[in-house]
Amino acid sequence: MVKLPPIPPERLPGLLAASPKAELHIHIEGSLEPEMIFALARRNGVALPYAGVEELRRAYAFTDLQSFLDIYYAGASVLLHEQDFYDMARAYLARAAGDNVVHAEIFFDPQTHTARGVAMEAVINGLYRACADARAEQGISASLILSFLRHLSEDDAFATLEQAMPLLDRIVGVGLDSSELGHPPEKFARVFARCRELGLHVVAHAGEEGPPAYIWGALDVLKAERIDHGVQAVHDPALMLRLAQERIPLTVCPLSNQKLCVFPDLSRHNLKQLLDAGLVATVNSDDPAYFGGYVNDNFTQTFAALPALTARDAWQLAGNSFEASFAAAADKRAWQHRLEECFARHAGRG
Ligand SMILES: [Zn+2]
Repeated sequence: MVKLPPIPPERLPGLLAASPKAELHIHIEGSLEPEMIFALARRNGVALPYAGVEELRRAYAFTDLQSFLDIYYAGASVLLHEQDFYDMARAYLARAAGDNVVHAEIFFDPQTHTARGVAMEAVINGLYRACADARAEQGISASLILSFLRHLSEDDAFATLEQAMPLLDRIVGVGLDSSELGHPPEKFARVFARCRELGLHVVAHAGEEGPPAYIWGALDVLKAERIDHGVQAVHDPALMLRLAQERIPLTVCPLSNQKLCVFPDLSRHNLKQLLDAGLVATVNSDDPAYFGGYVNDNFTQTFAALPALTARDAWQLAGNSFEASFAAAADKRAWQHRLEECFARHAGRG
């Protein structure tokens, strides 16, 4: 076990904020703040079913995943042109850099846009240009993961992959998101096999609301390298053992879980249990504009709600986020070194 410098408890919130970290579970459409939704609606002449920013924000009282998705797709309807995707991603990356995110792997849902007649090129090129400019101007590293919507058919996913083929050098992998229950991973076995043949990394949402069987399916059928959410794994000891032994990361999103009632309250979240079982758990924001906070809010609020979480857990979570990323080994080592420096800065006299 690494010997960490002693961190006085009162310095833990500052340490969590200052710590370098990778964010691996962020849906870029979920970073659209109400102000930007209305600004883009005006710019593009799109009518919204909400009178204004405050009414839209009030509608963010979700009861489950589906109640969120309904509003999420309405919000995404303002995105029409390459510049819209660029502006959205630059806004997120600026916020992330402010939270000391050194690397982000960003999900995007092309089917949400291509179904409205937006060209695949506009989506991917806008996001890709934003990642390149943010890297140049803010020093944050970012890459893109194309997510298939699981409530649609596998044929639709194949058509989406086909449209993205000329742009595959601009994405690092594929994922699977949207309504989980009733749409098990097995539904997408063939398209994920094709993506793996193409050399893409594969991840999948599983075990957010769905049962442990969906996590097994994501691992065994889709060959997912990371599980997004995965918090329901605790109900299956054999699965917990496998996730720990194979070091399969979970991208956990505590504020999302609270907002969508996966846990009744943050104080009942199982993050500490996952870490204590030796799982490669990470902390992420999911859809920060909708769930009440960006990645640092997730860290500080979760540590405040779960006093059992310690500075060692903070160290583990940041280190896990680097390990779990698809970044180059040299980058991971450099970020780990920055993490050590950050801990040394926050240490008390020990
Ligand atoms: Zn998600």
